[in-house]
Amino acid sequence: MNGSVAQHKPILDEERLTREESMIRRVAWVGGVAVTIVTAAILFPLLMSATNGWQYPVYLALGGVPLAYGLFSSLVLFKMQVLLLRRHQGQLLMRVSELKEMASRDEMTGLNNRRHFYEVAEEELTRAQQRRDTLAILLMDLDGLKGINDEFGHGVGDIVITNLAAIISKHIRGTDVAARLGGDEFGVVMPGTDKRGAFALARRLWEEMERSPMYQDSKTELMVTVSIGVAGYPWGGDSLDEMLHWADADMYANKMSRRLPNGPELKQEPDDTGALIDDYVLGN
Ligand code: GH3
Ligand code: MG
Repeated sequence: MNGSVAQHKPILDEERLTREESMIRRVAWVGGVAVTIVTAAILFPLLMSATNGWQYPVYLALGGVPLAYGLFSSLVLFKMQVLLLRRHQGQLLMRVSELKEMASRDEMTGLNNRRHFYEVAEEELTRAQQRRDTLAILLMDLDGLKGINDEFGHGVGDIVITNLAAIISKHIRGTDVAARLGGDEFGVVMPGTDKRGAFALARRLWEEMERSPMYQDSKTELMVTVSIGVAGYPWGGDSLDEMLHWADADMYANKMSRRLPNGPELKQEPDDTGALIDDYVLGN
């Protein structure tokens, strides 16, 4: 899931290509003109001084040399131009795919960005509706990142965000698409996944975050929590907007419950009707 964004480099060296092309053309022209002049200079006096009938066809045949050279050099020229064009085309295609990759990535975490998340979610919802398949969407928001920034510095906040991205990448399946939607908010599109599957991912993420500090140095060990909301097709909305609205409301309710004393406690997996938040009971 993680992918490093390719470094920007000046790939399309148009000037160099144009220079190479004009050099090839110049060599072909100079060669052609030189051979024609030399052949004419030799042939002309020979034809003038010819005394026997057989000499004419022999000399004229020799005149075919510049013609053969012309044809041969055009062929070579053509092949070289095709080669250059192919190289140019290859570089263009590489650049286009690098740009596509950059346009869909979040630079800090290496996950997809918001734009790509929406594109995939829309595509997958249409596919699920056409094939009568399931689709789940998870929205997440770190708890208390502002406080972490204030107390430990923005750099530590960045590490917490990056670590959450790494945990998400570790736990999703190959068909899931994870994205950083902005700030400390993340989303996962889970094709072919029902509510139970989505809930299982949420639980794996919580369990890992309970085990692993999200930042650690010699003096500090930061345990951080994340609020998660789930929605999906066909059980949590018929349009993407509706699904995101439900997932967001679910996440907000989850966040509120986390702020209460003792925080939420996982009790059971969801049934087919309630939203994810229904599956928590608050600690007493
Ligand atoms: P809540 O528990 O309600 O989620 O509150 P919060 O403190 O996590 O704050 P909230 O989610 O409302 O807003 C996210 C904050 O995260 C805002 C900003 O201070 C911080 N933030 C946003 N982007 C970045 C980032 O790239 N790096 C760091 N270090 N902090 C960020
Ligand atoms: Mg937050």
